[in-house]
Amino acid sequence: MTNRRPIVAGNWKMNTTVAEAVALATSLRAAVHDGGPTEVVLCPPTVSLVSVHGVIRGSHLGLGAQNVHFETHGAHTGEVSAGMVASAGASYVIVGHSERRARFGDTDEAVSRKVRAVRATGLTPIVCVGETLEEYDEGATATVVTRQVRAALEGIPAADVSGFVIAYEPIWAIGTGRPASPEGANATVAVIRAVVADLYGHEIAEGMRMQYGGSVTASNAASLFAQPHIDGALVGGASLVAEGFASIVGAASARVR
Ligand code: PEP
Repeated sequence: MTNRRPIVAGNWKMNTTVAEAVALATSLRAAVHDGGPTEVVLCPPTVSLVSVHGVIRGSHLGLGAQNVHFETHGAHTGEVSAGMVASAGASYVIVGHSERRARFGDTDEAVSRKVRAVRATGLTPIVCVGETLEEYDEGATATVVTRQVRAALEGIPAADVSGFVIAYEPIWAIGTGRPASPEGANATVAVIRAVVADLYGHEIAEGMRMQYGGSVTASNAASLFAQPHIDGALVGGASLVAEGFASIVGAASARVR
């Protein structure tokens, strides 16, 4: 049993037109019922933030962006800042998703700068960490996530870090239909919690919410959430179907009953 409030976030990635995003958000608003203990965050494509915000305003659903630039403004064609996504209604930003790290040059240094930019804007980062299949096979998981967490939190004072969310997302589990085992995911999140404890102390580490991400579905969510260190999920593919996503949220809420 834990006092940490579960948090389930849907990462829609580069899916949905504005009209489709509005339709999905409308279905999610109806499917994910009010009153549950789980915090729910929708992360549509940037272009749909404003429209989705309009749909979920006044509901229990929160809004997040999938990425931001670390600068506040300037000559960065095609990028958006944390302040911009905040002005569109976002409260969360996914930072350091493995797809951004692998394909768009988000190094540990860039992730760290983005985390600081998000924090400076008063938004909450969902910091993604996770190892490749090769690193997993080499037994390097703990080393990799330790490096990533330390880098991402570099320079963040204790007073600011406690609301952060960390998502452990083994890259080999993302979009593959092969999630990590609940025990394996829990063990790595325990490593992450120990790193946070080392940096900020036991109390902050115990209070910080940590998600698992990677092929989470309505069928496997409950077994993942039964693990003591896993406080929710960052959901990709399964967040695009309202009923399935609602079931995942339900599984997270069942954890605290
Ligand atoms: C993700 O991209 O963050 C993710 C977890 O994707 P999926 O749920 O589709 O594996």
